[in-house]
Amino acid sequence: MIKRVLLGLLALVVLLVLAVAVNTWRQGSRQIDVPPLAPIAVDERAAGESLAVAIRARTVSSQADAALNADQFRTLHAHLQARYPKLHVALERELVADLSLLYTWRGSDAAAKPILLMAHQDVVPIAPGTEKDWQAEPFAGTVKDGYVWGRGSWDDKANLIAQMEAIEMLVASGFQPRRTIYLAFGADEEVGGLRGARAIAALLAQRKVKLDFVIDEGLLITEGLMPGLDKPAALVGIAEKGYLSVLLSVAATPGHSSMPPASGTSAIAMVSAALARLEDGQLPAAIQGVAREMFETVAPEMSGFNRVVLSNLWLFGPIARRQLEAGASTNAMLRTTTALTIVNAGNKENVLPGRAEATVNFRLLPGDSLANVQEHVKRTVANERFELAVLPGATEPSKVAPTDSASYRLIERSVRELFPGTIVAPGLMVGGTDSQHFGAISDHIYKFSPVRARPEDLTRFHGTNERVSTANLAELIRFYHRLVEQAAK
Ligand SMILES: [Zn+2]
Repeated sequence: MIKRVLLGLLALVVLLVLAVAVNTWRQGSRQIDVPPLAPIAVDERAAGESLAVAIRARTVSSQADAALNADQFRTLHAHLQARYPKLHVALERELVADLSLLYTWRGSDAAAKPILLMAHQDVVPIAPGTEKDWQAEPFAGTVKDGYVWGRGSWDDKANLIAQMEAIEMLVASGFQPRRTIYLAFGADEEVGGLRGARAIAALLAQRKVKLDFVIDEGLLITEGLMPGLDKPAALVGIAEKGYLSVLLSVAATPGHSSMPPASGTSAIAMVSAALARLEDGQLPAAIQGVAREMFETVAPEMSGFNRVVLSNLWLFGPIARRQLEAGASTNAMLRTTTALTIVNAGNKENVLPGRAEATVNFRLLPGDSLANVQEHVKRTVANERFELAVLPGATEPSKVAPTDSASYRLIERSVRELFPGTIVAPGLMVGGTDSQHFGAISDHIYKFSPVRARPEDLTRFHGTNERVSTANLAELIRFYHRLVEQAAK
């Protein structure tokens, strides 16, 4: 009897191993096979210098003060006008909400749906006290050692300058777009884009414009970021997470700390318990949707154990999920995240406060909604004495752009042509971009630019020693040149 059970088990193990092996090798590459494109000539030095000049404009934006650094934004505008004269003849230029820019390059075929290229003019400030850690002054616009250094060099003036350079080249070459090309450069992306990008989207909507596709900053070409993948990976953001901050507040009887109330009934105890419940009872994680599509696309390109696991999610799903949940960046791809960000209570060591408050920030996965996450908060806090308030700035998660569309395939093909050997896969944008404001006028919003980053570069983003190589800047120019030429031929 035992022998038969053991034999049965052995047979089962052999079958499983076979199934796993077959699944792993059967899932061939999903990468399209295109010949590499000979790089067009780009004046890398001149483009680097143009980016350096753009960095010297200290375009730090502010949520509260729309006019902050208005002179710096105008300096940037003047630079664009001086440096890209042909573009400024062929394209119509509009100022929207005072400092944001919308350019229109009218297409010859009025029936062809327009496309939109996006970047933003504004930058985040330098964290106080970190100025001395920069290898080149953050707003000096220094070009050295093959890099353009400074705040905004990567995020997002490299994209802005590369788009201008590419369009200037196309105009100079006599190219006539069949479909209309828009360029939108918001002036307040870093503080939500509620003035610039939102107004530009509203203006286009009012003009009854429907966009074939939108391409904005977002995911990048990374190397060495995914274990088991030794090729560079271009992740094209096809969706963006939503945003919700909930303020929890609770009142309790204030009193003297010499006679505290029963355990768990003070304001601080109630807030602490509520926060612990929210932290422990997070929304569920799953390898589905965008994350699943990403792993299924990348898995055949991987080597070793990672390939086996990700090619067999039917079997290893729970193991893979636990692994991915353990890393902050991968965890954020699998679930609506819960982050405890502010706590306020008490102001004297011997007084029990009459009120305690906490703010919890959620980033919503496509599929979740502001309503269902609020419901989750209420249910999890499970204390009628709490008041819950939604803070301003809440946004639903974006729609998910399809990967079987002509526009996705065009981006994919352009990357494969210009960055040979680079894997292209869809990805999820966990931060916010200006393109979120265009959901009403386009179903195909892609958040990607071929900026190259290695793991050690990621701290430069909004951090110290932000830089972009002039070689990479040239690649960005070629990418936008190819994209526009192919999309609008
Ligand atoms: Zn940005």
